[in-house]
Amino acid sequence: MRKSILLSLCLSSSLLLIAQTLTVENQFVRPLSDVLNEISTRFNVRLKYDIDTIGKILPYADFRIRPYSAEESLTNVLAYFDYKFVKQGNNVYKLKSYEYPRRIDEDGKKMLAYLNTLYKDQASWEARKALLRSEVREKLGIDTILKQRVNTKPILSKVRKFDGYTVQNIALETLPGLYVCGSIYTPAKKGKHPVIICPNGHFGDGRYRKDQQQRMATLARMGAVCVDYDLFGWGESELQVGGVAHRSSAAHIIQAMNGLSLLDYILTRKDIDATRIGANGGSGGGSQVVLLTVLDNRFTAAAPIVSLASHFDGGCPCESGMPISLAGRGTNNAELMAMFAPQPLLVVSDGKDWTASVPTLEYPYLQRIYGFYNATDKVSNVHLPQEGHDFGPNKRNAVYDFFADVFQLDKKMIDEDKVTIEPQSALLSFGKKGELMPENAIRSFNDVAVYFDKKLYSNLKSDAGLEKKATDWVASLQLENEKDASFVRTLIYNHLRQVRDWHNDHPYTTIPEGINPATGNKLSKLDREMIADSAMPKEVHDKLMNGLRRALTEEQVEQILDKYTVGKVAFTLKGYQAIVPDLTAEEESIIIGHLKEAREKAIDYKNMKQISAIFEIYKTKCEQYLNNNGRNWRQLFKDYVNKRNAEKAAGKK
Ligand code: ZN
Repeated sequence: MRKSILLSLCLSSSLLLIAQTLTVENQFVRPLSDVLNEISTRFNVRLKYDIDTIGKILPYADFRIRPYSAEESLTNVLAYFDYKFVKQGNNVYKLKSYEYPRRIDEDGKKMLAYLNTLYKDQASWEARKALLRSEVREKLGIDTILKQRVNTKPILSKVRKFDGYTVQNIALETLPGLYVCGSIYTPAKKGKHPVIICPNGHFGDGRYRKDQQQRMATLARMGAVCVDYDLFGWGESELQVGGVAHRSSAAHIIQAMNGLSLLDYILTRKDIDATRIGANGGSGGGSQVVLLTVLDNRFTAAAPIVSLASHFDGGCPCESGMPISLAGRGTNNAELMAMFAPQPLLVVSDGKDWTASVPTLEYPYLQRIYGFYNATDKVSNVHLPQEGHDFGPNKRNAVYDFFADVFQLDKKMIDEDKVTIEPQSALLSFGKKGELMPENAIRSFNDVAVYFDKKLYSNLKSDAGLEKKATDWVASLQLENEKDASFVRTLIYNHLRQVRDWHNDHPYTTIPEGINPATGNKLSKLDREMIADSAMPKEVHDKLMNGLRRALTEEQVEQILDKYTVGKVAFTLKGYQAIVPDLTAEEESIIIGHLKEAREKAIDYKNMKQISAIFEIYKTKCEQYLNNNGRNWRQLFKDYVNKRNAEKAAGKK
């Protein structure tokens, strides 16, 4: 019982709040969860939570509720915590955290209307464009990174020949020791070819997926050289910097550098026609298409797919990690893409993601800018209202048609059945496990961080450590299905991070000094630390456990929990078996039950001291149980110590 009383102390502060009379002196504070419950009942609306309300206290709470509107009340209440709501149907609202890159259509509409007031003809638009161009470079920080590039010969694989095209893998060193890996699809026909740089998005399996190979190879069969390459921290890049690196702002810069560097390289090839250079990518790859064309005026045709919007900048740090949308006192991807006018541009949109607004918002806006050059016929929009967020056949066909027209490719060669889908291993430069990585290759994100502001990425080092933990633990299970393994890895990694972040954000000093009611002693630092940590939302724990139980067998779940607690269940049980030599099967099973409970509680604590303290609580329970079961724990323990001492003494003789 020692600490279990203590752990519930943390709840008392919010209980106190409820008991208070609400007056201006206490700012009419109420717990956020109560206020939301009230809104839900009062307006008969259902609230779905993607946010944490625990410990959140709202001043002037009741005044924020407007009796005539659930939505206005929610706005007033949530804004205080930087939360927002998204309407999900009649009387259903999802509560979410503020997302800086994601806005609503209405914002896009207002923003484009505002932007349209900034230019009225080609001259004023050209002035705006020049400002945006320089400020995007500056906000991205691309030039300091480009300056540090090396110019070594790329590592090229053997050329693989297929029906009407060839494929060759490339590993190009960009910053010293940092490589970008990709594949180059080339028409079998001799002659000068246009080239299309194809940055990858976040669709599963990255550039190795079937529809990506179909698109690269078909465009090559039609007559264009296509270059695709891994996202930073994905595919072969993950071997160099780990997957966590992708969720950093560095990914935004490095991916832009990779696209430009591959373009530099490919233009050294004699079979490339430098007057026909395209960019094409879907989703996050589309965001990169926008950025590449802003950074480099060598591009002559562009096609962002299921990506372009005026109210969404791309939710991954590789798309919005650097504040490029703040260029020119505020811009968006529609305006950045408009900078491509009057060159040929295809925008593919669909009805089920944020690009649903393209026909009514972004496309008319683009047409106006293209109109400054009398080139409205150069910008087109293929909108697929029944389709969703993917790179499916209709989207690929739109891409084939577009590049066939602008680069004079051979439409007769459009036949995806002629494409050979290679296994992922064939598309690798460094081998399945990176065994072919060059000697100078960087093997940690920290070695990349030196090219940036080091302080910026200090948390990433810790993230990388947690990622390694999760990876090692899951590897020990030897799961056959990689999808399951990846799911469990992410689950554990997210949990470890949440535990760490909660611990770091809620130091022991947030718990007032006080007396431990169980012992009468002053609360120790560890006590206060544990009270603070025990207030972590229960959802964090449940999400991990439910996910583990869904993907793993009970035995495997236990193995993972043992990893968290470094085998403390087995170790402690051994102790009991030694101290109570005639431990019965029933006693053992009850002790194991307590220890397993301790284990599951302990996983939500950050360090070994805390984990041990949790086990102490349950050890007390075990010992109380033995006493109640007719044993004398004190005596047993004494006998055990005496026996050990006697054995030691005998050993010395
Ligand atoms: Zn990304």
